[in-house]
Amino acid sequence: MKYTFDPAPIPTVAVAGSDERLPVRRIFCVGRNYAAHAREMGKDPDRDPPFFFTKPADAVVDTGEVVAYPPETDNFHFEAELVAVIGTAGNNISEENALDHVWGFAVGNDLTRRDLQLKAREQGRPWDWGKAFDRSAVIGPVHPVTAVGHPDKGAIRLTVNGDVKQEADLADLIWSVPEIVSILSHSMELRPGDLIMTGTPAGVGALVEGDTCIVSIDGLGNISTKIGPRA
Ligand code: MN
Repeated sequence: MKYTFDPAPIPTVAVAGSDERLPVRRIFCVGRNYAAHAREMGKDPDRDPPFFFTKPADAVVDTGEVVAYPPETDNFHFEAELVAVIGTAGNNISEENALDHVWGFAVGNDLTRRDLQLKAREQGRPWDWGKAFDRSAVIGPVHPVTAVGHPDKGAIRLTVNGDVKQEADLADLIWSVPEIVSILSHSMELRPGDLIMTGTPAGVGALVEGDTCIVSIDGLGNISTKIGPRA
């Protein structure tokens, strides 16, 4: 194969307790999956079917990296999230079999240009400019299911400069990981390296240059992101 120009490197995330890197194929994100967050965003937290948006695979950022304050926003937000990583391909997956397709779990931060997202929402336009920008997906080391099982309860917490901003329990997810995997797999074939950011609890808020944002989930460790000067 002769390429017109050098292909981009394969985006990867860390694997806990290993030198391996896990190749990222796609990043799916669930909108409004904690009732209290749905309410703070002005929406009804009933069990309407979940909806999804995506980020490009190369938006991934490791823990410990500086993320420059992104362009075209004055309201740059954090969102603590549990990330499920697909390891086995499948479509039309049943809820009962869904966890067989999950390779591991990680802590994530769904960085958001909230002003652009809300303007798009008001105008009925796509969310991409609010959600899918460069370096918008902080993803911690992926813990294999063989080591941590399938976390479905336990604290999820986010601090900014040491102050707690988000604190909830994974048991508060409106749509569970097996339900999300099953529903998503009826729309698209899931493949190894697909990441699913499962939604954020209440308490989202703004980051500014110089902030250090730490997200932790019981059993999955924590991730730290420092916000740098405007790009
Ligand atoms: Mn989110």
